[in-house]
Parts: sequence; C-alpha cells; structure tokens
Amino acid sequence: MKRTEEELKKIKNEVLNCKKCSLYKEKFENRFYPVIGEGNHQAKIMFIGESPGLNEAKTGRPFCGAAGKVLDELLDPVGIKRKEVYIANLLKCRPPENRDPQPEEIKACTPYLERQIEIIKPEIICPLGRYSMNFLMERFGLGNQIEGISKIHGRLFKSKDFFRNVKIIPFYHPAVAAYNPNMKRILGEDFKTLKTIIK
Ligand code: URA
Ligand code: SF4
Repeated sequence: MKRTEEELKKIKNEVLNCKKCSLYKEKFENRFYPVIGEGNHQAKIMFIGESPGLNEAKTGRPFCGAAGKVLDELLDPVGIKRKEVYIANLLKCRPPENRDPQPEEIKACTPYLERQIEIIKPEIICPLGRYSMNFLMERFGLGNQIEGISKIHGRLFKSKDFFRNVKIIPFYHPAVAAYNPNMKRILGEDFKTLKTIIK
C-alpha cells in the first residue's frame, strides 16, 4: 500500500475509536459514524466543511444531504467533479442538533484535519463556513487577515505556512444557500474564482 493510503487509513482507525471530545458519546448512543473525509488522495483542491449533519452521521459520508446537493450544484458549472477533490470537515463527529462547534471540540479534533492536509497536500483549500475559515486562516498564518465571512468570502489568500505555498479561498457554508437563492447566487459567483485559478 502506498504511504498516503497507509497514513490516511491510520487516521481513519484513530477517528473510529476517538474519545477526545464529548461528541463521541453522541456517536455511540445514536450508532452514528464519524465522517472522516472522502475524495481524491492527490486532490489539488480540498473543501473543509464544519461538522457532519444527520445524513452524514448516518452514512459516514461528507456532504451527502441538503448541503451536499448545493455543493454539487456549485461544482457543476465550474467543471469540477467531486471525485477530483477531497472533502473533509473541521469536526468528525456530529454535534447534537447540528449546533455550532465548540472551541474545545475544535481543539480536540483538528489535529486529524491537519494531518489530512499534510498528507494530501492540496494547492487550494476552501473552508466552507466561518468556523473552518477561522481555523484554517489561523493555521496558515493568515490570522491577521481574518474578517467576517460576509466581507472576505470568495477572496483568495496566499500562505507559505505549513508545507508549501497554499491558496485559501473561504466560502459561505453551502447550507446557507439550501433555501436562499440569493446566497446561492453569491456562492456561485465565488466558486467561479476556482475556475480561474485551476486552469
Ligand atoms: N455540513 C458540513 O459542514 N459538513 C458536512 O459533511 C455536511 C453538512
Ligand atoms: Fe474525536 Fe473529533 Fe469525534 Fe471529538 S469530534 S470524538 S475529537 S473524532
């Protein structure tokens, strides 16, 4: 097995047994799956959502519910296929009632995400939503450029931190567009940025 596969498998096994934050109880009680991540292990683009919703926790697959449908609709016009990219989340286990991630949960869980990023080495990282945006911009040495997501969504940030040059483009979370055509239009415009930088 290739090194990448081995390392990702190791993360998977660790997450399956993880009890580092209280969300593991929720997972055991409901027989939920953690959502580790899915896609191309050599992906050029990595999307990072927030945390699994109900559909995701039932299947173990990221963005397979309403927000996932929006994500598919955003990727389609820019000619990006899901299987080309890698999709993961800030938190691997579902918070009850889809509540916001708590600081201690982010702290406990994000070492897994950091390792996924180090293994996959994407050129472009797209945080989906403000929690992922805040974490990733901090992590990539862009903390001093963080503003509200309504201000910096769709903007391209360049970082040399972590392993090499990385571009970060924060987007609104696709869930906000599920029932809001205006948000969907804004997200659609923002996704066009991807088209200009991957070609
Ligand atoms: N929302 C997320 O942030 N991630 C998922 O995987 C699904 C919905
Ligand atoms: Fe572990 Fe992350 Fe699940 Fe918490 S959310 S139990 S840190 S895998």
